[in-house]
Amino acid sequence: MVKIMKKEALWCETKRKKTFPSLKTGIKTDILIIGGGMVGISLALELEKEKKNYILIEADQIGHGVTGHSTGKLTFLQEANLVDIEKAFGQEKTDLYLKSQQDAIDIVTKNIIDYHIDCNFESTTSITFTNDYQEIPKLRKLETILERNNIPYHMINQEKDPEMLYGVSVKNTAVFHPVKYLEGILPFLKGKIFEHTKAIQYQKREFDYLVNTEEGYIIAKTIVFTCHYPFFTIPGLIPFKTHIERSYLCSFTVDKAKSISVINTKIPTISYRYHRDRKDYMIYLRNSHRLGQDLDYEHNYQELIKKAPTKNIDYIWQNQDVMTEDHLPLIGPIEKGNHHLLFATGFNTWGMTNGPLAAQILKDMILEKENPYQTLFLPNRGISLEKIKNFMIDTFYSGKNYIISKRKNYYSFYLDKVKIEHLEGKKVGIYLDENEKMHIVCTTCPHLGCGLTFNTFMKTWDCPCHGSRFTMEGKWIEGPSTKNINID
Ligand SMILES: Cc1cc2nc3c(=O)[nH]c(=O)nc-3n(C[C@H](O)[C@H](O)[C@H](O)COP(=O)(O)OP(=O)(O)OC[C@H]3O[C@@H](n4cnc5c(N)ncnc54)[C@H](O)[C@@H]3O)c2cc1C
Repeated sequence: MVKIMKKEALWCETKRKKTFPSLKTGIKTDILIIGGGMVGISLALELEKEKKNYILIEADQIGHGVTGHSTGKLTFLQEANLVDIEKAFGQEKTDLYLKSQQDAIDIVTKNIIDYHIDCNFESTTSITFTNDYQEIPKLRKLETILERNNIPYHMINQEKDPEMLYGVSVKNTAVFHPVKYLEGILPFLKGKIFEHTKAIQYQKREFDYLVNTEEGYIIAKTIVFTCHYPFFTIPGLIPFKTHIERSYLCSFTVDKAKSISVINTKIPTISYRYHRDRKDYMIYLRNSHRLGQDLDYEHNYQELIKKAPTKNIDYIWQNQDVMTEDHLPLIGPIEKGNHHLLFATGFNTWGMTNGPLAAQILKDMILEKENPYQTLFLPNRGISLEKIKNFMIDTFYSGKNYIISKRKNYYSFYLDKVKIEHLEGKKVGIYLDENEKMHIVCTTCPHLGCGLTFNTFMKTWDCPCHGSRFTMEGKWIEGPSTKNINID
């Protein structure tokens, strides 16, 4: 029998002593940053270095979004995505992407040194491996890309490690505590910061933008959406250009941490790293799937628990990231050429490097300065075959998810503690908790109207289309919805 201590991310356990107030009035600024994760806080620091006037608002707590639920690896060996990028864009852009990721590791490392940030940063060897013969050619291709870029690597086979049929390893990568890293930056930010302040809409005015929050408003000349998944569909059409991938993770103590971070190339995804703190931990990820392709959340958690190399799990959680059709992030103007309305998303599960990189690109766009990586990530970049193929897959699954989420009989796998009913013309979900208290919520997602499904493991209502999540009482947790789903 496996013992589970906490259903929360290891990185989010420590609570910051100094928190920021929520915004309750109207306020004006040059630059508004919406979202305090890896991108938002990195951008605030970049603007601080340039002595710019900015405000940052965060819907919940800084760092506790996707960033605080990641595995916290800083690596350019990102599974075998360089091979996918080369397929979509060719050699030149692949090499540029690789260089951008190496630079991003340097940005984070330099910040840690310059600002004396204590965030359990540790140099590691990164490994991508496979246990499937058919995947070996992909890893060989990865080696070719590394060789072309003069990056030393090692080949691993079963003689060196019986767990790995074939693998590639590189040095000059690292791991860190992502929340401590962001919190270490906060004392150096002089711009105003508001937590528990959610942007719910924005509108263009003659010379600036007006952003409404739940209890206040902000007038800004430039807005940067660093909220992971923009809460609007037009402009940008993000729901049609991306999909969400969800993964299941846990963490537990080990006798001795190793200086390696590991990921495989195939489904089921296996990814792990170690973390040295007062105790040594392993962070272990198992199973990643396109959201909506697998709604049996309980089963995914049970698989993780079954396969985790321990009987004592200290922390267990899930996380989800925005995936793009052509494997490159989207960083830049939402509307072509408009440098006053910027965003960054679609990090394809590699935002610890792409986040700080995005911050530099966005800062340079605001300052109207050249950046060597700017064109690589432009959201309106050209169409490739890979993009068309994945666009069709994304559109198919979006439609399918929407229909599935609306079908009432889909709920048949729920415990008898969960019911879907109609109440005054609305579809509602009723959850009876362990104290027999009833929690009733509206099960239509306020974002784009998908049907919410109950996550029996986490006791949350989750949108299978675009990833909004809500507590059993109906309070927003994450995702593009700007509203709660509680019934007043
Ligand atoms: C399982 C998993 C493991 C990963 N591991 C790694 C890894 O090891 N290395 C790596 O490089 N990448 C990793 N990633 C990817 C990485 O975690 C993300 O790409 C990155 O954290 C995204 O950062 P962000 O700032 O865009 O988002 P977030 O960290 O989510 O920050 C966005 C913030 O905006 C806030 N927000 C949302 N809506 C609003 C609103 N309307 N108003 C105000 N605020 C709002 C949110 O509360 C949140 O705090 C992983 C991803 C997953 C899913």
